[in-house]
Amino acid sequence: MSFFKKMENLDTPQSSNSALTGEAEKVKCLIIGSGPAGYTAAIYAARANLSPVVYEGIQPGGQLTTTTEIENFPGYPSGVTGTEMMEDLKKQAQRFGTEVRFGIATSVDFSKRPFKVVIDENKLIEAQVVIIATGATAKYLGLESEEKFKGSGVSACATCDGFFYRKQDVAVVGGGDTACEEATYLANLCNKVYMIVRKPFLRASKAMQERVFNTPNITVLFEHQTKELIGKDAVEGALLTNAKGELVKIDITGFFLAIGHHPNSDIFKPYVNTDEAGYIITKPGTSQTNIPGVFACGDVQDKNYRQAITAAGSGCMAALDAERFLGEHGLA
Ligand code: NDP
Repeated sequence: MSFFKKMENLDTPQSSNSALTGEAEKVKCLIIGSGPAGYTAAIYAARANLSPVVYEGIQPGGQLTTTTEIENFPGYPSGVTGTEMMEDLKKQAQRFGTEVRFGIATSVDFSKRPFKVVIDENKLIEAQVVIIATGATAKYLGLESEEKFKGSGVSACATCDGFFYRKQDVAVVGGGDTACEEATYLANLCNKVYMIVRKPFLRASKAMQERVFNTPNITVLFEHQTKELIGKDAVEGALLTNAKGELVKIDITGFFLAIGHHPNSDIFKPYVNTDEAGYIITKPGTSQTNIPGVFACGDVQDKNYRQAITAAGSGCMAALDAERFLGEHGLA
């Protein structure tokens, strides 16, 4: 196995390893990712004197910073915004001494301890234990026109970008809870919202479905698929195909993807076992990966529940497992 196996589908350019010849920074407990899993792991690790260092990753605060109101996280009877909750979690982790840094893990070498992790392709960290909490990333359809209009009509985050489409007509792709949530959020801002759903039913929970069906300016287009986006410099419409194979044109300026996520596990794959979808496999009931001393928590290892509360719970497990591991190896 080559030294510093590269991330297979990384968007960032390939690095040279020249910057890695410098001295490595030694860290006891490295946490990669800053969603509810990463920060909860940090809170527990910091309180156990593991001096955790958290690298925030591509989306500091994780996916919750792109969501609207969170109403199902215990302890917030009036709800809380994703951004607020993540700020609170970060402050709580820092209060006990967690060092939170900007930066993205770009390659790893888990062949032996201390584990080597490269940050931003130029900084080398050696960690006794690593907690992977890198979450998952939104999927796109893969259309050429979708790529062309990214940032000018195409978005995977209604709460980030919905504001720009006030009083306009937009579409959301997908029939799950995310799509329903995004559609109802956009319906508050926009003139009209189409939901483009490939099946004849919504996959979302009954409560979310009801919310969609009770919102008058949402039109659900069942059994429709997006063929192409049209427009000159920005999205002006979408061409869809219906169940009969007929072309249907809708006039929209915003096109929001809500069709699921891809686990951010690529850089770890040369060492850490994943399932066919890329979710990291952990020993049931624990956060342990196949590499002793490397733990995984949150959405990168959970394709079933994917909730903030389950991510936080698994972050706690990872910190406790890491603490136990360090103790057993005389490193605590
Ligand atoms: P899901 O995987 O549940 O749903 C994805 C949706 O996108 C499905 O309707 C799927 O269609 C559709 N889809 C996938 N690929 C394509 C494609 N290429 N073209 C068209 N449509 C496509 O993902 P979500 O992000 O909605 O939810 C993930 C998890 O998070 C779920 O467990 C959900 O319950 C949870 N969640 C909970 C929330 C809450 O409780 N407040 C909010 C948001 C999410 P098909 O059905 O045909 O496969």
